[in-house]
Formats: sequence, structure tokens, C-alpha cells
Amino acid sequence: MKRLIAGLLDLLFPPICVGCNGKLVQGEKWVCTICFGSFPETNSHKLADNAIVINHFLGKTHIAYGFSLYRLRKKSHLAQVLFAMKYKNQPKIGEMLGQYYGQILSETLAMETIDGIVAIPLHPKRFKERGYNQSDFFAKGLSVSLKTPVYTKCIERIRHTPSQTTKNKKERIANLEGAFQVTAPALLSGKRLLLVDDILTTGATLASCTNALLAAGAAEVSIATIAVVEA
Ligand SMILES: [Zn+2]
Repeated sequence: MKRLIAGLLDLLFPPICVGCNGKLVQGEKWVCTICFGSFPETNSHKLADNAIVINHFLGKTHIAYGFSLYRLRKKSHLAQVLFAMKYKNQPKIGEMLGQYYGQILSETLAMETIDGIVAIPLHPKRFKERGYNQSDFFAKGLSVSLKTPVYTKCIERIRHTPSQTTKNKKERIANLEGAFQVTAPALLSGKRLLLVDDILTTGATLASCTNALLAAGAAEVSIATIAVVEA
């Protein structure tokens, strides 16, 4: 009966791809195969000192490795997918992409020494508004493929930073200093961490969070994001 109802619902409201709005076929979920195959991958995992590290973190903090799965262009199908993941209550897309990226990253030397994964936290106020943190889902997916635990509730966002878009680069970094507080330093002490977020723009948020983790005693921080915004 349940299957019949599900089948009828699919017939009346066929599931569509969140990227291109095309109909999904059996076996596809959220994103169609054509969209999935068209998203531009950075291949940053193939190079330790890649553009992710150099352009976003050099001089701001010290990270061991930095990886982004996709290059993000405005108004692209990928942008639609990530918008749905973040704002339209479809966080499971993040988990799917995490599993996919975890498979790719599991081939790298960098991942062999990671002790645990940490997701960039949202400020409690924003978490309440949205109901979920998309980065938690990305972390969960990575954790499955990398067979590495996620350290939850170990760092908090203590300052609500309103929209950063109107500020210049220097102001953004200053605005984010002291925005994070480690709540479980004993858990993180001496650990090699993979810090994860959905979208890398300037890197200010990730750099600030990395600095908080290192100050709390983490041995090493690497970074992985779903996408990096194309300059
Ligand atoms: Zn599509």
C-alpha cells in the first residue's frame, strides 16, 4: 500500500532535479546524473600546495592541506543545488556530496593521518532559524567514506556575524576574530583534524575557526569544502 501511494505521488508530482529542474529517473535522488557529471571538479586533492591553500589561507592561518570538490559559478546548476541544500531544507544533499567526496579523498595521503572531522558550527541563532547546519551533513557523509569520526559539539560560534558581503577582505577577517570558542579542548588536544564547510569564499571564517582549533591544542588542521567560489 505504501509503495502504491509513493508510486502514485511520483506520478502526480514527479521528483525533479534541484539543479536543472528536469525529471529524475529511477535510482536518481535530488540531482540528475547529467547535472552531477557536469559539475566542474577542482581536482585539488591531486596537489598538496594547490590554489585552495595558496589563494585562501596563506598568511591567515596554517593549514596542513586544503581541498574543495567543485568550482562554483553564479547561477549555475551547482549553485541551485547548493542553495537548496542550504536554504530549502534539503541538507541530505550535503551528506550525499560528502560521501562522494570522501571516496575521492580517501585515496590521498593527507587523509591517512586524520583523527576526526569537525564541521564549522553555525551561530545558535542561525541554527534555530534554519533548523539544521548543512556542514554537519557534509561532515557525516565524509565520515562514512573516510571511516573517520565526526567530533560534534566541540566548538561553538559565539558571535553572530551578520552578512559579510558588504565588508572588504580585511574587515571580514577582523569581524571574525574571536567568533569561535572550543568547548571540548581535551577531545581535540593533539588531534589532526579535518575542518569542513559547504562553500569557500574568502576563507576568513575557516581561517578564524582553524586558529581557534590550533590555539586549543589541535596538532594540525586540514580543510575540505564542497565548493570554492570562482573569482
Ligand atoms: Zn539536473
